[in-house]
Amino acid sequence: MPLTSCPSVLVIYTGGTIGMIKDSETGALKSFDWDHLYKQMPVLESLHCRIDPFSFDPLIDSSDMNPSFWIRLANVIEENYEVYDGFVVLHGTDTMAYTASMLSFMLEHLNKPVVFTGSQLPMGVIRTDGRENFITSIEIATAYEDGTPIVPEVCIYFENRLFRANRTIKFNAENFDAFLSGNYPPLAEVGIHIKYNRSHILKPNFRRLKVHRELDTNVAILKLFPGITPHVISGILNIKGLKGLILETYGSGNAPTDHWFLDLLADAIRRGILIYNVTQCKEGSVDIGRYQTSVNLGRIGVIGGFDITTESALAKLMFLLGRKIEQDQIRELLGQSLRGEMTVD
Ligand code: ASP
Repeated sequence: MPLTSCPSVLVIYTGGTIGMIKDSETGALKSFDWDHLYKQMPVLESLHCRIDPFSFDPLIDSSDMNPSFWIRLANVIEENYEVYDGFVVLHGTDTMAYTASMLSFMLEHLNKPVVFTGSQLPMGVIRTDGRENFITSIEIATAYEDGTPIVPEVCIYFENRLFRANRTIKFNAENFDAFLSGNYPPLAEVGIHIKYNRSHILKPNFRRLKVHRELDTNVAILKLFPGITPHVISGILNIKGLKGLILETYGSGNAPTDHWFLDLLADAIRRGILIYNVTQCKEGSVDIGRYQTSVNLGRIGVIGGFDITTESALAKLMFLLGRKIEQDQIRELLGQSLRGEMTVD
């Protein structure tokens, strides 16, 4: 049930383009005044919900995003979880997919909508995409049916589509249509109506929210390229304290068959480093064993990440390593879908 007949939403502003307006006198971009939201956007009055703002201080460009900020963001949601029906997180677009993926892992048993959005043009610019993104996100965050939220998961709303957060990447630096979920259908499509794709939305489990705050940043990402040398591979695999590596492979999880390459990886795995195989493609899945070039990876103990995004794989590794559980259990969990982040066949 919404908490009252007038649903409530907490709008959490972290920084980024969406919160900028042009100073009418100087023409310079300055911060939108979220504390006086209704004064800035009187149209919000007609939404029939209560919108309360929360602004981080200081605000950050999302290029400065980091794990301690993720923890603070999760704390704000936890502290307000019982008070609001839904949450809208305004975030810079550059690292939104990382933050939103991470929050999906940190917020276990989430039963309320947490909708991330942002914009390519500042809120105060006449052609802004921020206004529509913001208003529709509020509608989605407060949408309930038969007493339960329609989208009780962490998601990203951008340019008429709602995506599962941990399936989404930013793929365009200029277009309004900037986000992509190559391996999972949109959770909703927005035109005259908001059409929810119900069979693809997670169901609420009505369990108590559990927030995981321990994140381990001893991870790295290695993107393969033709001509990569042993120095590069061994340089990364010998980083002091490294516990997990995301290996961005070709196509369906393929990598060079050179002995030196496999030996370096096998040695790292013996030393306890987890290697997670993620494809460089924006659509499709790692399928270890489809080609001889990936059979070797499976044989030495590289873990297949199916169709997970790099952003989500990074968040999952930090989250699982932070849980201080046995390595075997982490290996097992990396092969499972924990929050709908990958399709396991
Ligand atoms: N650099 C900005 C950020 O990610 C871009 C944006 O907001 O879209 O914070």
